Amino acid sequence: MNLILMGLPGAGKGTQAAKINEKYNIPHISTGDMFRLAIKEGTELGKQAKEYMDRGDLVPDEVTVGIVKERLAKDDCANGFLLDGFPRTTRQAEALQELLSDLGKSIDYVIHVDVPEENLVERLTGRRICPTCGTAYHVVYNPPKEEGICDKDGSQLIQRDDDQPETVKNRLAVNIEQTQPLLDFYQDKGYLVKVNGDQDINVVFQDIESILEKK
Ligand code: AMP
Repeated sequence: MNLILMGLPGAGKGTQAAKINEKYNIPHISTGDMFRLAIKEGTELGKQAKEYMDRGDLVPDEVTVGIVKERLAKDDCANGFLLDGFPRTTRQAEALQELLSDLGKSIDYVIHVDVPEENLVERLTGRRICPTCGTAYHVVYNPPKEEGICDKDGSQLIQRDDDQPETVKNRLAVNIEQTQPLLDFYQDKGYLVKVNGDQDINVVFQDIESILEKK
C-alpha cells in the first residue's frame, strides 16, 4: 500500500499518519520530521534545511527529493509507505513519479485531509509536540491528560519554532499556493481521495480506513 497524505499544515496529517502506521504497519515518512531530526543532530542536511524552515519557506527541491529517494529505497518500504509532507511542489511530484517507476512501484492513493483554511491558524498555534516521541497535542482540541506533559512518556511538551504565530501565516500562505497544483496533478492521475479533516480524530481515521479497505 503506497500512500501519500496531503493537507495544509495543521490539517492533522501527522496524527492520521501515526494511526495508519499503527494499523497497517507501513513506515511513516515525514520530510518535516527528517529535517527536524537532521537539525537536532547537527548534520550537513540539518544546516542546509534550517535557514529555510526558520523562515517558513520550503527547503529546495534537490535536497528534499534526495532524502526521499534514499528513504524509499530502504527495505522497510518493500510492502508500502506513507508519505507525509512530500511532495510539496509539482517538481517534487514529478520527481517522485520517476523515482517510483525506477523502483518498480506506483502510488495507490493520495489522501487529502481537508480542513477549511480559517481553522488552521488556531490549530497550528495551539499545537504542542512531545520532543521525545513526536506525539502531537492541541491545547484545546486534543489536550494531554496533564497540561504540558506527554501522556505516553511524561516529557515536557514544546511548541515547534515554526508554529509561532508570525511564522504560521507565512507557512500557510506558501502551502496554499503550492497545494492546489498538486491536488490537480493527482486528480488528473486518478489517485486523489478527499476526507473531511474537520471532524473528531477517530472519525477522520474511520473515513480513511473505509477508503483503504476497498483496496
Ligand atoms: P512539516 O513538518 O511537514 O510542516 O514541515 C516543516 C518544514 O520543513 C516546512 O515548512 C519546510 O520548511 C520543510 N519541508 C518539509 N517537507 C518539505 C518538502 N516536501 N519540500 C520542501 N520543504 C519541506
